[in-house]
Amino acid sequence: MSNNQPQSRPNRGAPKTNPTRTYSQTKRPARSKAEIARRIFFAKCIIVFCMLFVLGGGVYLLSRSGLFKSKSSNAGGTALSTVTFADQTPAATEGSSDTQPSTLPDDLTGYTVILDPGHSGEDTGCGWPLNSSEIEEKDITLKIVNAMEEDLISRGAKVYVTRKTDDTVGIYYRMAEVHMICMDIAKERGTLPFSAEKEQDLRQKCEKIKEINEWQKFSTEGMGFMAGFGANEDLKALMDMEAQMTDVVFVSIHINSTGDESEYEIKHGAAVHYADDEYISSPSHDEGGEPRHDPYYGRNNELNSKFAQMLYDTYVQDFPEMVSYSAQQSHLPSAFAVIREQGLVGTLFEVGFITNPHDRDFFYDDEKLKATAISLDDAIEAYFKSLKGEPAATA
Ligand SMILES: [Zn+2]
Repeated sequence: MSNNQPQSRPNRGAPKTNPTRTYSQTKRPARSKAEIARRIFFAKCIIVFCMLFVLGGGVYLLSRSGLFKSKSSNAGGTALSTVTFADQTPAATEGSSDTQPSTLPDDLTGYTVILDPGHSGEDTGCGWPLNSSEIEEKDITLKIVNAMEEDLISRGAKVYVTRKTDDTVGIYYRMAEVHMICMDIAKERGTLPFSAEKEQDLRQKCEKIKEINEWQKFSTEGMGFMAGFGANEDLKALMDMEAQMTDVVFVSIHINSTGDESEYEIKHGAAVHYADDEYISSPSHDEGGEPRHDPYYGRNNELNSKFAQMLYDTYVQDFPEMVSYSAQQSHLPSAFAVIREQGLVGTLFEVGFITNPHDRDFFYDDEKLKATAISLDDAIEAYFKSLKGEPAATA
């Protein structure tokens, strides 16, 4: 501020005798109307501009807060909104999904899928013609899983597979592998729920199970801490950890068959199995194996059921010819080891019957197998996105 400034105020009403002021005072009335009108106009413009700026900023901040998104999230199930388990993972948060949900429809960044191609090596699974190797389950499942893996990676997911080759790996090898993968993931996140010593102990036990099951596929000894009825302390600790990891799913791919020739034409279509605590722990599933432990009740039963149903629904929507011959088969609780001996949300998905001529044509067609993989991946993606509006599992 200069010293001249204060003078203008007392001079505003100064007498006309002051020549230096006269000029200005005589001129001022002449142009003041236009000047004032212009200034008022500019002032109005600035006010309007500021209001628009403030309003625009407010709308932007509100949209960032998610308040405007909850509607689309509820309606479509794909938009991302409030804090969920997925948002807590670094990758999911980093994915700027809050700002660009519609531009990233296929973004599975931050999610993990463990794929298990059923059977391998000497354990061929079912085949056709019976007792021949013209077409075998282990090859079909590997083709589907390979295509699923490639597609899921392109969508941003992290993918693990229990086998990449035809080497024989037993069921408990696969389960030990799943437990080790889950320990890796938890360790990376800093959420491993036991001590370093316990982790070391569990890893050694898993390695031993894998070693035995590389060559002796149905060894009782090879079950290790997974042997018997119920869950021992080691298995329980791992399953409790895995049940918290709802941004990881497990999918085992299989092909069905029937040994009864009269049913070849009847039995067809997909069958989807999921783990359920009550079902697995019921006396009818206590096969009397030793050792005996308390039944385990920590699985994500509802999510298991939901995930299985979503896989089936998406698949038969894409391939109506693969609708199951039996409504029950389309969604059934089961006690298969691959879904029973770990705590992740998971399913054993039977794509169709190799003994049914129509389903079999499907399995000879590599394009159909690839399309099956895409369909199942679509379901996996839809499942993960459906969880976004729900709280994290607290099993
Ligand atoms: Zn199978």
